Amino acid sequence: MPLSPEEYREPLAHAAAHAADWLDSLPSRRVSPRENIGQLESAFAMRLPEGQTDPTEVVDELARLAEPGLMAIGSGRFFGWVMGGALPAALASDWMVSAWDQNNGLRYATPAAAAIEERAGAWILDLLGLPPASSVGFTTGGTMANFVGLAAGRGAVLEAAGWNVNRHGLTGAPRATVLAGAEVHSSVELVLRYLGLGEPTLIASDDQGRIRLDALADALDAATGPLIVALQAGNLHSGAFDPLREAIRMSHEHGAWVHVDGAFGLWAAASPRWGDALDGLETADSWATDAHKTLNVPYDCGVAIVARAGAARSALTSHTSYFIRDDAGVADPMDRVPELSRRSRGIPVWAALRSLGRSGTVALIEGLAGNARSLAEGLSEIPGVEVLNDVVFTQISVAFGSDERTKAVTQALIDDGAVWMSGSRWAGREVLRISVSNWSTDAADVAAAIDAVARAVARA
Ligand SMILES: *Cc1c(COP(=O)(O)O)cnc(C)c1O
Repeated sequence: MPLSPEEYREPLAHAAAHAADWLDSLPSRRVSPRENIGQLESAFAMRLPEGQTDPTEVVDELARLAEPGLMAIGSGRFFGWVMGGALPAALASDWMVSAWDQNNGLRYATPAAAAIEERAGAWILDLLGLPPASSVGFTTGGTMANFVGLAAGRGAVLEAAGWNVNRHGLTGAPRATVLAGAEVHSSVELVLRYLGLGEPTLIASDDQGRIRLDALADALDAATGPLIVALQAGNLHSGAFDPLREAIRMSHEHGAWVHVDGAFGLWAAASPRWGDALDGLETADSWATDAHKTLNVPYDCGVAIVARAGAARSALTSHTSYFIRDDAGVADPMDRVPELSRRSRGIPVWAALRSLGRSGTVALIEGLAGNARSLAEGLSEIPGVEVLNDVVFTQISVAFGSDERTKAVTQALIDDGAVWMSGSRWAGREVLRISVSNWSTDAADVAAAIDAVARAVARA
């Protein structure tokens, strides 16, 4: 059964039909999977077949077997972790990315993909008010975007101390100090491990999880050697933003590189509503965000931004005889991210922004936060519910009395299936954590979420 190019049409048509069925089911289906991992492992337990199977049959079988085990992350009633759905233009263009199958490393080789990503990057800088000459790279997610910013920072602060880390590595290098808020995201700690920088020194935070300026000032005074400060725009539990302008100014006075992890919260910079909360954002040295969270493009897509493009390029570029560069002066896509071979994941970002426009992007972000506010207001009217944070963006942390009771209500809510929210621990307490990150969440979904929590409170 030899394959020929015409054989794409039928499996693609079936894939489109299965995808549409799935998307059509989102508004009404139970959010959590009907079957668990054991059941799914059984469903997929077949041996590797000896012979070929018709591609359309493969697609049909995949859709049928997977469906009971799919989490409806794209549902407007999904409020778990910080995830977001997929805007129609972003999803459809992501299919085109797969069909085009561009290996998006070199401007010379894949000019359409490179040009589209460059435009998407320029739009992001414009929307967020970041320096227009910054390097923008499209990574797998916020984790690797944090890696890019901190890798550029590591190279720059060691260079300033007279040490070329690209040439000499870290052995024998001046010891760098990394300062981060006590509620730093675990991915920042992870990438510091990748970078050989070890554990950061954690700086005390306030009741909303924001880094405390007095504690930062003390730590900066005590720090020796090359210095990196990792700040946060958007705390997972409260949505709060670190006091950026002052924290960045103080850090720069001590010669630090300042990186801002804004995996979901950086997008707030697109709206004047958060002008005060994000004041000074543009004075940092690097920023990480996700497009697969607040912007609602499909997985996976992060955005790594570095103000001094040369610092990113120095950390990430590589040379070999078969990389043909069209212009030595311009960074290729591979000079902005850790990977060489990768899909054109900036294209769905371009499509999302192209379809929303500036006002639509701002409306998306303000809409998520508005829904979070309504949800928090509705929840706080249910007896026995405590909203623990100031709801300043898309995140809500809720407790129901004792830790045991909060866990019981969270479990009752997940068993109920009408909505999905995740449990967590914050400020020494068990919490139910809610993230409003899906573009399609509407007032009815918010009301359904409030009802579902009220039911769980009554049942637990
Ligand atoms: C999600 C998140 C990350 C990690 O991003 P991934 O896309 O999961 O790699 C980092 N920081 C914060 C604050 C996040 O919310």
